[in-house]
Amino acid sequence: MKPVMALVGRPNVGKSTLFNRLTKSRDAIVADYAGLTRDRHYGNAKQGKREFIVIDTGGFEPTAESGIYMEMAKQTRQAVAEADVVVFVVDARGGLSAQDHDIAKYLRKLGKPTVLVANKAEGMTEGVQLTEFYELGLGEVHPVSAAHGQGIRSLVELAFEHLPEPDEDAEEGADSGVIKLAVAGRPNVGKSTLINTWLGEERLVAFDLPGTTRDAISVPFERNGQRFELIDTAGLRRKGRVFEAIEKFSVVKTLQAIESANVVLLLLDATQGVTDQDAHIAGYILESGRAVVLAVNKWDAVDDYQREQLQRQIETRLAFLKFAPLHFISAIKRQGLGPVWAAIAQAHRSAMVKMPTPVLTRLLLDAVQFQQPKRSGMFRPKLRYAHQGGMNPPVIVVHGNSLEHVTEAYKRYLEGRFRKEFNLVGTPLRVEMKTSK
Ligand code: GDP
Ligand code: GDP
Repeated sequence: MKPVMALVGRPNVGKSTLFNRLTKSRDAIVADYAGLTRDRHYGNAKQGKREFIVIDTGGFEPTAESGIYMEMAKQTRQAVAEADVVVFVVDARGGLSAQDHDIAKYLRKLGKPTVLVANKAEGMTEGVQLTEFYELGLGEVHPVSAAHGQGIRSLVELAFEHLPEPDEDAEEGADSGVIKLAVAGRPNVGKSTLINTWLGEERLVAFDLPGTTRDAISVPFERNGQRFELIDTAGLRRKGRVFEAIEKFSVVKTLQAIESANVVLLLLDATQGVTDQDAHIAGYILESGRAVVLAVNKWDAVDDYQREQLQRQIETRLAFLKFAPLHFISAIKRQGLGPVWAAIAQAHRSAMVKMPTPVLTRLLLDAVQFQQPKRSGMFRPKLRYAHQGGMNPPVIVVHGNSLEHVTEAYKRYLEGRFRKEFNLVGTPLRVEMKTSK
């Protein structure tokens, strides 16, 4: 599971600047997907080998007792409780405030690993202005500049010091033959109903998977000869053999489940349409690069008019997931479930596809011959060969000259060709350009 870092601090100390700095490299990946509205509070970050989830908690008022501030404080407390490390941001220029003391008091009581950082410290002589922050009783103060990117690497190292070193190749790409499946969706879409329906099927056989404890919400099972691991599903609790929804929906758990899955089944509720929360979860899945199957549950409870509306709504609001197959099901009436299994298996196959260099290169050259990339001023990009740069999601790296002039439209054209040739359904496919020097 990816570790989680929560950024807390009063407004204006630079939390969102730091959040953007930490998540920037990942942003570029999803920048050009139409229709995607990002949830600006949760992001994926990578620093060196370390990958983690960052939460920007917004302005934290630990003592707020009513209204929107209380709601925010509640959400912040949940985020902080679920984080592996808290980064408490103060303002090196503005100095200490009463609010900083309140937050510090809260964090001291909580007893989580906490890193105190003084932001906006660019150009300041270390140690001189920062001494007052020791009053907060949270140990050493680390100067950073979120705006200028200073001190960020050591901040991340320090923050995860207490966790084991990440193991790079352990998860990526390894295909153990077990499909790791997460069922995601906001509360009440029918996740636990669906899972219980599944697990009640006779065709599912439990098997032992090394490394899974009985208490963890992770269920290995086999269906028609294919092994699955239903991974720690957000918002659910296992009670004996049955799953039940727990009241508190957790974005952090959802993100972690998505990240550790190969395939995510995103459930929507036909009676509710596509809500903002659905769109945000869909956005996390896109960003993770995981394979995805969409299923609209409670199909039994809507009429033809509503069905039509819903289909249109999905096409527009979730346009960025148009590579994902869409199914209509009723978990309660056990309708439409077979095709969902088939779609999950196909999405997994697509995500784990192996594309040999000679085949990729031939397809690339065919595609170029059929339609040349546009000339840009004096440059005409020259696409020479392609190789596979990763799986889950599959990445195709194209080599050649002047490739920085290849347009987004042309990349999408190539993506479409590769998709068709390899019959890739239900997985994102990334096409990257690498110019030879
Ligand atoms: P938040 O309310 O804690 O999320 O704070 P923001 O990230 O919105 O930043 C508040 C203000 O501080 C903005 O005007 C930022 O440009 C500025 N700021 C953020 N980081 C730095 C920094 O490292 N140095 C300086 N000088 N200003 C910064
Ligand atoms: P979760 O919070 O996503 O786990 O959702 P639950 O599985 O607890 O389901 C929420 C509510 O939706 C319950 O009242 C279920 O009975 C109901 N529900 C689940 N699946 C269906 C379905 O296929 N059709 C209808 N009409 N209701 C359903």
